[in-house]
Amino acid sequence: MRIIRTVSELRVFRAAELGHNITGLVPTMGDLHEGHLNLVQHSREHCAKTIVSIFVNPLQFGANEDFDKYPRVLERDIKKLEALSVDVLFVPSIQEMYPEGQKDMTRVLVPGISTLLCGSTRPSHFEGVTTVVSKLFHITQPDVAFFGEKDWQQLTIIKSMVRQLNFPIEIKGVPTTRESDGLALSSRNRYLSSSERAIAPNLYSILREIATQVKEGQTNYKVLEESAADQLKELGFEPDYISICSASTLEPPVEPEEELRVFAAARLGRARLIDNIPIKN
Ligand code: AMP
Repeated sequence: MRIIRTVSELRVFRAAELGHNITGLVPTMGDLHEGHLNLVQHSREHCAKTIVSIFVNPLQFGANEDFDKYPRVLERDIKKLEALSVDVLFVPSIQEMYPEGQKDMTRVLVPGISTLLCGSTRPSHFEGVTTVVSKLFHITQPDVAFFGEKDWQQLTIIKSMVRQLNFPIEIKGVPTTRESDGLALSSRNRYLSSSERAIAPNLYSILREIATQVKEGQTNYKVLEESAADQLKELGFEPDYISICSASTLEPPVEPEEELRVFAAARLGRARLIDNIPIKN
């Protein structure tokens, strides 16, 4: 696996060594777990070459968020990626990605959808994501890029960005990888104490309960959402939202035939957990 830290070296390598091979990109912030590695495996299956990026992007963290504490375990990540025969690991510094500083950095914003759900409590988060993902797309020039359905809102926003800005890149969503008790894998699960870790899977079971009730014909979504939020609070979570939405607009559904998902974000101790699942008719 070639480890590349600069844009110029990546560009040379991309042109000389990857050329016209179908190339997949898996953007990450590192501290790789089975969820990330499953994205890598999808890329290995679909593409001739795979680039993984690791960059803890300051632009997508709010002022009081965990940028400083975010786990950085590069040596361990390298071993995991080498074991999967990844072709290139791109691991730029902040200076390499934002040489002119962050304040005056050109931004890419997908309006509307970026203000919903997580956007309401993390106002500049998605702008930070779309800005860095645009840069990574320009730098690595993938044919396909892989994102997790765990971050469904992020996946939807990136699909809009690619469509609207004509990036010649196919975006593939990959289903959420979970622990055996249902908790979605996340680097932020590290922040959970052992007692919080025991409570955490309830987020998923409450989402499943909502999905079951909708499938059984419950149409009063507000009642379901409010009772789920109450259950979460009783368990010790502080919910940001729990919401049944159209899978494509992330707004409350308007048409009876719309594909639905249920989304939740809740704090548990120092961790902010997010999850979502489909509601199949
Ligand atoms: P992150 O390092 O948290 O920015 O995540 C990098 C990519 O991995 C994103 O596309 C995430 O949606 C995806 N991802 C993170 N956790 C999971 C998971 N449990 N299952 C599937 N994809 C995931």
